[in-house]
Amino acid sequence: MESQKHYSRIYSMEFFPPRTSEAEAALVHTLDRLAPLKPRFCSVTFGAAGSTREKTFETVCDIQQNRNLEAAPHISCIASTRTNIRDVLLAYKDNGIRHIVALRGDMPSGMMSAGEFRYANELVAFIREETGDHFHIEVAAYPEMHPQAHNLEADLKSFRRKVDAGANGAITQYFFNPEAYFRFIDDCEKLGIDIPIVPGIMPITNYAQIARFSEMCGADIPRWMRKRLEGFGDNRQAIRAFGLEVISDLCQRLLEQGAPGLHFYTLNQADAILGIWSNLGLEHESLEPVLI
Ligand SMILES: Cc1cc2nc3c(=O)[nH]c(=O)nc-3n(C[C@H](O)[C@H](O)[C@H](O)COP(=O)(O)OP(=O)(O)OC[C@H]3O[C@@H](n4cnc5c(N)ncnc54)[C@H](O)[C@@H]3O)c2cc1C
Repeated sequence: MESQKHYSRIYSMEFFPPRTSEAEAALVHTLDRLAPLKPRFCSVTFGAAGSTREKTFETVCDIQQNRNLEAAPHISCIASTRTNIRDVLLAYKDNGIRHIVALRGDMPSGMMSAGEFRYANELVAFIREETGDHFHIEVAAYPEMHPQAHNLEADLKSFRRKVDAGANGAITQYFFNPEAYFRFIDDCEKLGIDIPIVPGIMPITNYAQIARFSEMCGADIPRWMRKRLEGFGDNRQAIRAFGLEVISDLCQRLLEQGAPGLHFYTLNQADAILGIWSNLGLEHESLEPVLI
């Protein structure tokens, strides 16, 4: 894990577009609390096959234009056409957006046509063809392997295709085992991949939710963590306290061993992120990126 060390650290945060007025008010409150941490960028997710297209757009423009923070929309290409993606790129360009998280996404159940893009590397290549170097492009990486990949080697080759197509950086799926990340970085270095690969960090505040997400995305919850979390039963306070400690330790270890930053999956909640931030003493580092 050597080459990840030349980058200044990147601390970023991910949000999802709110669907109701209550969720919108809650996001405003969360952003009010997290904005003072000055994340390098705030990314906003995109529903399957563009189902949240308008809401993602509104949330991104609000963050970028009204909050003095850099916003990065997620764009997924599955079930989409070149014309659709071109329109989305132009709309973001017209609104001053310079940063994108480019994904394949997942086919919604019941939808039959995959559209004009099969994989995220084709989306990255299309963004470069259409807009040159206008956008800083992030792609997804999977230290514990993407659930649909045949094997790790094939998945690494897929990741490399996205880098070769023009990705500037990557954000990982969340994981709880730091060894998975360190080994993945070593494998990437052997393939000559030298973009920053920032670990995605999922706070633990609710065991049922984490178990469900992990089942869907293939993130492993180590047995010792699972047993402890199960043992807390409905004691949400104990789950939060344990989650804060475990995730702060994970972040500490990742940073100490050279991770180029952290990308927080906020789930539109501020408390856990503020707790981790404070445990790591990031309030000083966030103002001025440090060369590591
Ligand atoms: C940081 C992050 C943010 C995310 N945000 C969103 C979001 O906002 N909205 C959303 O719907 N989903 C989101 N996802 C989930 C993501 O869309 C899914 O994991 C999806 O299944 C894969 O997307 P990808 O961009 O990684 O796909 P790809 O990189 O295209 O990979 C998908 C699968 O295809 C394989 N593959 C890739 N290229 C080839 C090829 N040429 N030949 C054969 N196999 C290939 C890969 O090994 C992998 O198994 C996010 C994931 C991450 C890690």
